Formats: sequence, C-alpha cells, structure tokens
Amino acid sequence: MVEGKLPRVEIERDQCKGCELCVRECPKKCLIMTDEINQLGYTIAKYTGENCTGCAICFYACPEPGTITVYKK
Ligand code: SF4
Ligand code: SF4
Repeated sequence: MVEGKLPRVEIERDQCKGCELCVRECPKKCLIMTDEINQLGYTIAKYTGENCTGCAICFYACPEPGTITVYKK
C-alpha cells in the first residue's frame, strides 16, 4: 500500500550504500543524508517528504538497482 502525497520517492533503507549521489543530483534538494545506519553498516539517504517532482533523476543516479522507487501521480 502506497501512502503519502504524490509524487514522492521511497528508499529501501537496507539496500542503500550511502553514496550520496541521489542527494547531490536531486534538483529540488529533497533528499538528505541521515545519521541512521542500515543493516549493511551504511548511513542512509532519506526523502524529506516535501517537494519531489517525480523527475526520477535520483532513480537514474543511484548505483544500487531497486533502492529508489519513484511514485508519480
Ligand atoms: S524524483 Fe526528482 S525531485 Fe524527486 S527526489 Fe528524485 S531527484 Fe528529487
Ligand atoms: S544513490 Fe542510492 S545508494 Fe546512494 S545514497 Fe542514494 S539511495 Fe543510497
């Protein structure tokens, strides 16, 4: 079940490698690095919950397939 307003992204926390590429590439600056550490021992990126346009630039920037999912209207 997808919840929350659209468009938005979800990041699979335990697949993220903490490379920060999505954070750097997002034109709306709506992704941030957190100090949360996942099962793999990496600090993870997170959606702030605001301003996503659904452009999917983060999806294409992420080197870990399936980590970022973009939900559009
Ligand atoms: S889809 Fe676009 S606006 Fe939304 S988080 Fe990714 S890069 Fe940012
Ligand atoms: S680009 Fe992918 S692996 Fe890198 S921080 Fe973002 S979600 Fe994590």
